[in-house]
Amino acid sequence: MTRSLHLGDDEPGRETPDGAPEHLWERPSWECRSCGRPWPCEPARAVLAAESDRVSLALYMSGHLERAVADLPRRSPPEMFDRFLRWIHARPVSRDRSRALTVTGA
Ligand SMILES: [Zn+2]
Repeated sequence: MTRSLHLGDDEPGRETPDGAPEHLWERPSWECRSCGRPWPCEPARAVLAAESDRVSLALYMSGHLERAVADLPRRSPPEMFDRFLRWIHARPVSRDRSRALTVTGA
């Protein structure tokens, strides 16, 4: 288990050593604490993708998707799915073989 992924229900509160907030979500808006864009913003996606393999990342993001849908009931499910999950599979992979591991929906 990777501690840096904040697995579980805890609220983020980390800051980088230079004091700048990391690209983490804020509830209930689900906007980035650092750049204010809808989370996961591009810097957050880059960090998440670098920290985790695709399957763990998909599981991790589904947990967030569930909470975000509860916090933002007016957003359409396809929009939320794209925002939280689709980007994981849309990212280029370094090894073709990892494609066989993609989660196709549960
Ligand atoms: Zn950000």
